Amino acid sequence: MPVTRLADLIDPAQCPCLVVKVGSSLLVGRDGLRREWIGGLVDEIAACRKRGQSVIIVSSGAIALGAARLGLEKGGRGSLADAQAAASVGQIALSGLWADLLDRHGLPAAQLLLTLDDLEDRRRYLNATATLGRLLDAGAVPVINENDSVATQEIRFGDNDRLAARVAQAVQAGAVLLLSDVDGLYDRDPADPAATLVREVRGVTGEIKAMASGTSGSGMGSGGMTSKLQAAEIADLAGVALAIVNGTNDMPIARAVDQDIGTLFLPPEGRRRRDAARKAWLGGRMKLKGELVVDAGAAKALLAGSSLLAAGITAVSGAFKRGDPVGIVDSQGGLLAHGLSEYDSDECERLMGRHSRDHEALLGYAPRSAVVHRNQLVLR
Ligand code: GLU
Repeated sequence: MPVTRLADLIDPAQCPCLVVKVGSSLLVGRDGLRREWIGGLVDEIAACRKRGQSVIIVSSGAIALGAARLGLEKGGRGSLADAQAAASVGQIALSGLWADLLDRHGLPAAQLLLTLDDLEDRRRYLNATATLGRLLDAGAVPVINENDSVATQEIRFGDNDRLAARVAQAVQAGAVLLLSDVDGLYDRDPADPAATLVREVRGVTGEIKAMASGTSGSGMGSGGMTSKLQAAEIADLAGVALAIVNGTNDMPIARAVDQDIGTLFLPPEGRRRRDAARKAWLGGRMKLKGELVVDAGAAKALLAGSSLLAAGITAVSGAFKRGDPVGIVDSQGGLLAHGLSEYDSDECERLMGRHSRDHEALLGYAPRSAVVHRNQLVLR
């Protein structure tokens, strides 16, 4: 069952994996990191883990924190060079604190610094998602930020709202929770006494966009409501729910859920849309680069939701690289699925029909778990 209300965000049955994004203004105060508040949030995250949810943290704050340490003006956002220098100073303290606080609950923190390219380029996307998947399976809590120190303008997300939504799409999370310094989306400027909180949004329409003012209230992050709505659009397309709630109170997750205060964006058509979106993304604008012919056993396993293993492949056609989209066809040439190949075509030829235990010797390096992982394929 997908998420349909705020309370579902902390229910492992509705939301097995939750992405929590924390904005700069919540993490960094006048005297540096807001340790106590962050400690309270980590208690809440640990409680989610106890209930059986996987949690991914997307943490801002590196630039704001580093700028304070280096004494840079405009919160380190005066120039790209300032932001990059500030981020590299701030990131150390930031990840150190998350690691320390999570460790108190026996939870290993795992730092990932990503750029837009890491999620847009299919080969790197496969690496990033495989690493995230493995970390979650192993019980770690990934703490993600943009790799601001090296990301130039062209390869930047620029805001962690969209980064969080793309991460959620990549790991097929149940929901994204954006902790902000406002209660959610208001139907007009929140300073207007007539403004009311919008509780639920089905589809980010022009009318919804017109409600956002576009500036970051705190002036610290680069977020603001506009980037949150862009994040909601990404989540919508991926079939992932997204909530904006106020993080300024202690125990913000419990407050939002118990009092049902926040804005919940739900994908317009539920589950079917998720598959359609994944299909579009996996196929992208690119044509399929090749084909993998599979035997009846593999075809049956695929239809039952399994990954494609090399043992079931009987022929390979086309010249493709790792990360390229390929068609998976049955012995009569009927298209069963398409997905991203974990191997180049010549490697697929070497591996086809062979059992996984032989792969390392055939490749000369540690093999991947499948030729097309089930998370990276869409049935036709
Ligand atoms: N990556 C930035 C930082 O760590 C934050 C981006 C944002 O404000 O959303 O400071």
